[in-house]
Amino acid sequence: METRIFKTKELSEKTLAAAKKQAELFLAQKKRKPTLAVVLVGDDPASHIYVGKKTETCKANGLDALDFHLTPADGFARLEELVNKLNKRDDVDGILVQSPLPKDWDEEKIQALIHPSKDVDGFHPENVGALSLNTIKVLETGLPSCTPAGVMEILKEGGITLRGKHAVVIGRSNIVGKPMAQMLLSGDATVTICHSKTTDLEATCRRADVLVAAIGKARFVTKAFVKPGAAVIDVGINREMRDGKAKVVGDVDQESVTGVASFLTPVPNGVGPMTIAILIRNTVRAAFNRSA
Ligand code: NAP
Repeated sequence: METRIFKTKELSEKTLAAAKKQAELFLAQKKRKPTLAVVLVGDDPASHIYVGKKTETCKANGLDALDFHLTPADGFARLEELVNKLNKRDDVDGILVQSPLPKDWDEEKIQALIHPSKDVDGFHPENVGALSLNTIKVLETGLPSCTPAGVMEILKEGGITLRGKHAVVIGRSNIVGKPMAQMLLSGDATVTICHSKTTDLEATCRRADVLVAAIGKARFVTKAFVKPGAAVIDVGINREMRDGKAKVVGDVDQESVTGVASFLTPVPNGVGPMTIAILIRNTVRAAFNRSA
């Protein structure tokens, strides 16, 4: 079986080009650019890279990005105060608080504090509820969680149909696994969600026509998990030391799965770029929705 390795460069560029066009239209109509506020707390090197990439992508696509940097010593109340201020600012369309926050800081409280109309990550309970009630509407016009929405675009572009198929998601997090399952369901797949307490994980995964791995464990999914001909989506981002060098690897053992799966997203250059592209799309949507 030949495995199609689906790099997302073209698709993410296409998604960003569409967002850029919309951002230009917004600027022409409203005389300002759609604007994303990005808040970073602390000095986690990976978070620095993510935040840098997000603001850079905003600026390259006709949006403004505002950076805010707090330290753990500033305290949780300062973060709440900042989010409240950003909620009130008319010139801010999207607010993103980079995860992870310092230990013992209540991430869920911050997610719920961000005004739902500016919640470009799609984590606010109102947006999570909207996704559950009408997934297709949120995917088309709302603020869906970026990573699973990016996966849906990959499946569409890759010609992977969902109707009547069995989709298995490994992982049940609020940011990837659960919204992913809802989106796959909205595409008329029959969906199974697996997690760390799932028994017979390999056999369950081997029944999948579409297998999404969102676990956070390097090269966990081998060919023993994959039905011949299945489409495999690797959401994982894991840092590994190999030959003395830091390397980013996914949750799927690409070498093992190649030749068994019919379709596979690589890491890097797979789901990651689509997450950022959807974040930009969400920010432009938030700008239009707020000004409607
Ligand atoms: P998470 O919150 O840690 O959730 C991991 C999930 O995997 C949990 O539901 C956990 O089950 C399950 N799991 C862990 N070990 C397992 C095992 N041995 N067997 C079966 N299930 C197992 O992680 P996340 O935030 O969803 O992220 C998952 C991965 O995606 C990470 O590598 C993350 O870096 C990556 N990610 C990538 C992007 C992107 O843009 N590409 C975006 C977000 C996340 P329990 O619930 O039972 O603990």
